[in-house]
Amino acid sequence: MNIEAKELSKIYGEGENRVVALDKVSLKIVSGDFISVIGPSGSGKSTLLHLLSGLDRPTSGHLTYENKDIYGLSDKRLSALRRRRIGFVFQQFHLLPVLTVRENIIMPLLLDKKQPDEGYLEQLSHLLGIHDRMTHLPCELSGGQQQRVAIARALIAKPDVIFADEPTGNLDSRSGAEVMEMLSAIHEKMGKTLVVITHDNRIAAMADRQYSIVDGVLTEVVSG
Ligand code: ADP
Repeated sequence: MNIEAKELSKIYGEGENRVVALDKVSLKIVSGDFISVIGPSGSGKSTLLHLLSGLDRPTSGHLTYENKDIYGLSDKRLSALRRRRIGFVFQQFHLLPVLTVRENIIMPLLLDKKQPDEGYLEQLSHLLGIHDRMTHLPCELSGGQQQRVAIARALIAKPDVIFADEPTGNLDSRSGAEVMEMLSAIHEKMGKTLVVITHDNRIAAMADRQYSIVDGVLTEVVSG
């Protein structure tokens, strides 16, 4: 799925409180890309991710998925598109504590009144190293394992693109490195488009294309 943002801006507040969170950001994401966006706190990273994934609408600008204008869709159709084509991974794992690992992973399908593809679930749980934890509760897992469950949940509906917002932000460096290796493997082996937001240079450098964001302005980082 090709994604194209054209001059996306997001302005919060008015007068003295006016904040330009995103300033005319244009970006082309081609199917199978691995892109990183690095920037300090308050630079507009989350705003960009929310706009690119249709979680929020811009003050001005356009976003197309396969040349189709996304913000023109109703909220209902936009959320259906998100459920089916986009996977999200957040800094907080957002697992439901009373559900088992398996139930957490298949929850997005149940919300869409669909049954899991058991073969695919098996493949995901092995790839993410959580196949022997499927009947456990989240509190019985380490942070790194919980994030891997969240990644499986992000992938269960077979989305085209994964948006990860500081996916290692809550993990120690070793678990963080494991989680990034897995996201990278998912990009390579499953051909998923991956957009990772981070403030960690080492993570940003894993991507095929790196961008930096400062005061809402996005710039491609050209190495060498
Ligand atoms: P980051 O994810 O890089 O930390 P954000 O995208 O969350 O940055 O925020 C960018 C800027 O927009 C910040 O100055 C922030 O204070 C401001 N901002 C974000 N959300 C809101 C909001 N709902 N209302 C007002 N200002 C906001």
